[in-house]
Amino acid sequence: MHDVVIVGAGPVGLFLACELGLAGCSVLVLEREAEPGSPWRADPLGMRGLSAASVGAFYRRGMLRPLLTASGVPEDPGPGAEADEPSPPRSVGHFAGLALDPAEVDLAALPFRLPGPAADGMMTNLAAVETVLSERAAELGVEIRRGVTVSGIAQEDEHVVAYAGEHAHAARWLVGCDGGRSTVRGLAGFEFTGTEPLFTGYVMLATLASPGALKPGIHLTPTGMYIRMAAEGHIGMMDFDGGAFDRSRQPTREHLQAVLRRVSGTDVTLDDVRLVSTFTDRAMQTTLYRRGRVLLAGDAAHIHSPLGGQGLNTGIGDAVNLGWKLAATVHGYAPDGLLDSYTGERSPIAAQVLDWSRAQVAVMRPGPHARALQGVIGDLLGTRGGTTYAFERLSGSWVRHDLGGEQPLVGRDAPDFRLEDGTRLGDLTQDGRGVLLDFSTDRRLRGAATGLEGRLRYAAGAARNDLGLGAVLVRPDGIVAWAGGPDFERGACERAVGRWFGLSGRGGSA
Ligand SMILES: Cc1cc2nc3c(=O)[nH]c(=O)nc-3n(C[C@H](O)[C@H](O)[C@H](O)COP(=O)(O)OP(=O)(O)OC[C@H]3O[C@@H](n4cnc5c(N)ncnc54)[C@H](O)[C@@H]3O)c2cc1C
Repeated sequence: MHDVVIVGAGPVGLFLACELGLAGCSVLVLEREAEPGSPWRADPLGMRGLSAASVGAFYRRGMLRPLLTASGVPEDPGPGAEADEPSPPRSVGHFAGLALDPAEVDLAALPFRLPGPAADGMMTNLAAVETVLSERAAELGVEIRRGVTVSGIAQEDEHVVAYAGEHAHAARWLVGCDGGRSTVRGLAGFEFTGTEPLFTGYVMLATLASPGALKPGIHLTPTGMYIRMAAEGHIGMMDFDGGAFDRSRQPTREHLQAVLRRVSGTDVTLDDVRLVSTFTDRAMQTTLYRRGRVLLAGDAAHIHSPLGGQGLNTGIGDAVNLGWKLAATVHGYAPDGLLDSYTGERSPIAAQVLDWSRAQVAVMRPGPHARALQGVIGDLLGTRGGTTYAFERLSGSWVRHDLGGEQPLVGRDAPDFRLEDGTRLGDLTQDGRGVLLDFSTDRRLRGAATGLEGRLRYAAGAARNDLGLGAVLVRPDGIVAWAGGPDFERGACERAVGRWFGLSGRGGSA
């Protein structure tokens, strides 16, 4: 009997496995694919953009350097990381194909973006992410069994069983991280609702008779959209057929060429198509993320079009939010309601991500109305306020869980505070514990974590930039649970410690 069985060794399942392993849970991961290394996970097809928020999640666990190495990115953290003032982001990305200029981001409107190794997003690929996470999971004692397809589950009072062929795997909890077509979601009876698609999307690796026929970059056309990416023959396109083609047939070279000619308005010829996959902008999420002893995370809980690169980032956010809460529940010290705060916090985030995706589809539709909208949105996004708004959405810094109270930092990812001795918050979070950062000169919070040392670290000292705060309580997932000004009351902080970390010793429930 394991503490937790995770179905799916994609990036979300593996990140969750690492979080649980770090917190001392016994974890079994069951993965359908017998071997890693599918071409869909390596560059160029597996290329993915990680937001600054996701980079921060790797950084807080000491996995950023391995990820940079595995992704082929130089390990130099950039000129801004050691500075006292933040530098402009290296890139912002796009909204519905409309490029955004990093120089237009208003840094003064982003007071919590402190300089540090994780201040910016990065490009990586699924294979790099999964390699780094699998290696860390193995170090933490997580067992990953490949070539195992889960096809049944049974929930009992005290445990849950995953069935794969003739094998049964029992655990106290089961988490479905098995992707957009999740088997676990269906087996456990989760309700999955949302909107039907407007387009079929295609991504392929092909050989073009005349590569120059397609311009590089993203192009909205009167009949759809196409992208010619940097790698030779790596092409994406959107055909507004109401999603009719997706999953109906295997796309042939002739079909792909016809669609590409139509959406690009060129006479491009495909000599050969090596790999192709289709997707849609169907946008759905489960109403709950937990039913009994079964939980969902990542694409299993929410699906939408890949526009704007949000799926993986949202899934990593799920994994870090769930990991410490489930671990606290397994160990018996979770305060009341902690595990259900996972749905409460993550479901509204996914709902907004789905809307961000829908908004882009609305702007990209062929026709005069969307074309008019493109002009208006383009003008707005070209302003300083518009670029900064889009940057917040794309970097993940917009995410703020409603934890109550008015302090604007509470509910957000903690800035990477740096103490006078050079220690960063990111150095203090690597063992998975929460952090109580006390900037007060009288060390007012000394002893506030006594009895909770296994799950909450106390650290004191003046910060190079304390953002005008006297102390900050950071949850194990990096979210600020409480923050007080220079004259904060110790009692307010202690109440927050009790709310999120429980009383010392074992007790509490799910
Ligand atoms: C073209 C494209 C570009 C994208 N670009 C970005 C981007 O730039 N940024 C971004 O954030 N997101 C992007 N996404 C989305 C991102 O890839 C997904 O959101 C992310 O991979 C989801 O991770 P996951 O672990 O939830 O699911 P998956 O990656 O789908 O992993 C699920 C795992 O579960 C396994 N599995 C499935 N069923 C079973 C079963 N019954 N038993 C056992 N194992 C099972 C699968 O084999 C798989 O390994 C993109 C998606 C596409 C299609």
